[in-house]
Amino acid sequence: MSEIVLEVRSQKSEVRSQKVVGGPRRILQAAAAAGRRTTNVSKKTIRELALDGRRVFVRVDFNVPIRDGVIGDDTRIRAALPTLTFALERGATVILGSHLGRPKGTPNAGFTLRPVATRLTELLGRRVVFSEDAVGDTVLAALSEAGPGGVVLLENLRFHPGEEANDPAFAAALAAPADCYVNDAFGSAHRAHASTTGIVDHLPEAAAGLLMGAELRHLGALLDSPQRPFVAILGGAKVSGKLEVIEHLLGRVDALLIGGAMAYTFFMARGLPVGRSLVEATLLDATRTIEQDADARGVRLELPSDHVVANRLEAGAAHETLGVENPAIGDRLGVDIGPATVERYAATIAAARTVVWNGPMGVFEIDAFALGTVALAEAVASSAATSVVGGGDSVAAIGRAGVGDRITHISTGGGASLEFLGGRRLPGVEALPDTAESTV
Ligand code: ADP
Ligand code: MG
Repeated sequence: MSEIVLEVRSQKSEVRSQKVVGGPRRILQAAAAAGRRTTNVSKKTIRELALDGRRVFVRVDFNVPIRDGVIGDDTRIRAALPTLTFALERGATVILGSHLGRPKGTPNAGFTLRPVATRLTELLGRRVVFSEDAVGDTVLAALSEAGPGGVVLLENLRFHPGEEANDPAFAAALAAPADCYVNDAFGSAHRAHASTTGIVDHLPEAAAGLLMGAELRHLGALLDSPQRPFVAILGGAKVSGKLEVIEHLLGRVDALLIGGAMAYTFFMARGLPVGRSLVEATLLDATRTIEQDADARGVRLELPSDHVVANRLEAGAAHETLGVENPAIGDRLGVDIGPATVERYAATIAAARTVVWNGPMGVFEIDAFALGTVALAEAVASSAATSVVGGGDSVAAIGRAGVGDRITHISTGGGASLEFLGGRRLPGVEALPDTAESTV
C-alpha cells in the first residue's frame, strides 16, 4: 500500500488535490481517471470564420519572460504571428488578450504586457495599440485609435480577478467589443478561465487559431493514428507528475524509453543501487505495475543500462560513467544517461515512424550532464519519424541541441501538452465548437 496526492480536475476544471491510498493499480487507475478526453479532436478553425470588417478577440499566450521591461525570449509572440497575419490579411480588426505571470487579480506594474505591444509592433511591422485595461471604455478608445483593420493588445487579463475565476460578468465584458472569438493559446487551454472558456458563451462564433489548430492536429494524431513503430521517450525530474502520461501512452506506443531522474525510481524498485539519485520512494509499486502493464500490452519498456554519476549537482563536479548495476555509485547521484544507453535508444528512435518526447535524459542545464539529452535530440532530429516534443524543459533542451528545425512539431504548451498526452480534456479546447469541415 502506498499513498500519493494527485491533482484532479473536475468537469468544470477546478483543480483540487486528491489523496489516493492503495496499491499501485488503484493509484494508476485514479491517475488515469482524472479526466479522460475523447482523442478525436476536430475543431472549427479561424479558416472557417468570416473575418472581413469584423472585430476578432484572439486569446493568445504572450506569457513571456520579461525582466526590467526587456523580453527575454519572444518565441510565444512569434508563434501567434500566423494567426494574427491571417486575420489581418482578411480584413479583421484584432483584439489580443493574454495573461502574464501571476498578478493574482490586481493591477501590478511588474506584470504589464506593455513591452509585448512594442515587440509585437516590430514583429508585425505595423502599429499595435496598447489598452491599459482589458475591459470597458479604455478598450473602445484603443479600438478607435487603432481604426478598422488595426491591432489592440489588452493589458494583462489577470489584473482582474474575474479572469481566473471564470466570472461570467468579466467574460461578457471581454466579449463586448468583439464580434467573434479565436483561441490560439494552447498553452492556456488546460485552464478554464474567462478568456479561454467563459467568453465563448458571449459571442456568436468561436474557433481555434492556427497555432491551436496545429497543436491539436499534431498531438491528436499521436494519440489517434500514429504511424508505427511509435516510440515515446520520457524523462525529467519526477515519475509522479507523469503517471497519467505514462499510463495513457502505454496503451498506444510500441516502445517506451525512460531516462532522467525518473529512471531511478524504477531502478530502486528493481533493487539496483541508486546512491543519492532523485527517487520517489512512494512510487516503487507504481513503477512495478507500469512494468507489468507494459509487459501485458507488449510494450517494450526500456531503462538505461549505463549512466553518469556525479558527486554533486554542479558544473565542474567530478563524474564518471558506470553500469547501472555497479555499486560503485556509492553515495553519488545519477545525472545523465550513458553512451551505451544513448546508442541503444538512438537505434530504436532511428527505426521509429512516430516519436514523442517529454522530459530531458539528465540534468541538461549543466553542460557536462547534457550529453545524453543532446545526443537523443540529435537522434530524434535525424530520424525519419514524425517527431513531437512537449514540455517546457524538453523544448529548451531541443533549442540547446540546436535541432528545432528538424523536429516535426514542438509544442508550445508545457503543462497543456502533458495533460493532452495524459488523456485529459482541456477546457479551452472543449469550449470550441467542432468543425463543420475537417480542417483540423
Ligand atoms: P519538462 O519541463 O520537459 O516536462 P521536467 O520538468 O519533467 O521536463 O524535467 C526537467 C528537469 O528534470 C530538468 O530541470 C532536469 O535537470 C531534471 N532532471 C533530469 N534528469 C535528472 C536527474 N538524473 N537528476 C535530477 N534532475 C534531473
Ligand atoms: Mg519542467
